[in-house]
Amino acid sequence: MDGIILREELENIRGYIPGRSIEEVQEEYGLSDIVKLASNENPMPPSPKVLEAIQKAALDINIYPDALGDALRKKLSEKYGVESENIVVGNGGMEVILAMAGTIITKGDEIIMPATTFPGFGFKSSLLGGKLVKVPLNKYDFDLDKMLESITEKTKVIYICNPNNPTGKIIPKNKLKEFIDKVPKNIVVFIDEAYYYYGVKNSEYLDSVRLLKDRENLIILRSFSKSSGLAGLRVGFGLTNKKLAENFRKALGPFTVNKLAQAAAITALDDEEYLEKTVELNYKSLGIMEDFFKKNNLEYIESNANFIFVNVKQHSKIVFHELMKRGVIIRPGFQWGWDNWIRVSTGTEEETHMFIEKLKEIL
Ligand SMILES: *Cc1c(COP(=O)(O)O)cnc(C)c1O
Repeated sequence: MDGIILREELENIRGYIPGRSIEEVQEEYGLSDIVKLASNENPMPPSPKVLEAIQKAALDINIYPDALGDALRKKLSEKYGVESENIVVGNGGMEVILAMAGTIITKGDEIIMPATTFPGFGFKSSLLGGKLVKVPLNKYDFDLDKMLESITEKTKVIYICNPNNPTGKIIPKNKLKEFIDKVPKNIVVFIDEAYYYYGVKNSEYLDSVRLLKDRENLIILRSFSKSSGLAGLRVGFGLTNKKLAENFRKALGPFTVNKLAQAAAITALDDEEYLEKTVELNYKSLGIMEDFFKKNNLEYIESNANFIFVNVKQHSKIVFHELMKRGVIIRPGFQWGWDNWIRVSTGTEEETHMFIEKLKEIL
């Protein structure tokens, strides 16, 4: 690579640290049973209806997909009462995040975000020369006042993850609405709702889509990876004003969502039964874990998503390795600077019990 000059910003960017794969851990530790509770995937296989739609679509994969996801956008528009022109679809929510940052952020822009949150938007912004202004949490909650105080002439975007990854907390609806209204209209409020279908079970969760019409500076992100069980297929979408959406689609280019993913997403949107089962299993698994944590005096944060953040009272690096040796993969909190905390995704009941058994051995 001698002589090829790369973007200087790359020097300060840490690449994505992936969760360990089941195959890797099986091989390294010679284990046959592995439970992966590290990436907030849906523990259920995709719904039979979705699998059928994928099989049907597969017969035509010699032909390019719908270039801009028109059929999927139409379906989304009916589902959420937003026009197709306000919607952008991508190869996973992550691609939508990257395209949005890529469209909005230029060198010197400031991005205000909580210190403990999902790093995607910040990562791309840094790559483009943006400056991340990380606001510490107020115990477990976003410090919304501090975030407002951090606004300067250079602020371009405020990133909010609701429910937040990895804390699982939501912002009470009135507070979030008030916050959005206090942000100057030339600053984008980016609300990442990858865990929407879990969060919305809490009556305090904000129905942010209803705010879109009157607030041009709002962007909402959703994903099919978690609640729809399509993480491996890659499809997500963003909702915003027409002008931004058009430019995001321009930045993304055509054909980024493959044909199988489009067919699956369209079908998944109508599959209420799968969503209900998903959410039910999720809160059952959370309940099992919470009972165990309570009995063992482990501090945890009440979750509105499909994972839980818990203080295991010893370094998460150690707990991560000890659990992995026993066939359970989780996320160590030190990656966010929470040394003694781990993030555990919800699993099937069986997987959840296995995690608890193995954690018991370690504590
Ligand atoms: C999982 C996740 C996403 C996007 O996931 P995709 O699989 O790319 O759709 C976005 N934001 C947060 C906070 C997430 O946890």
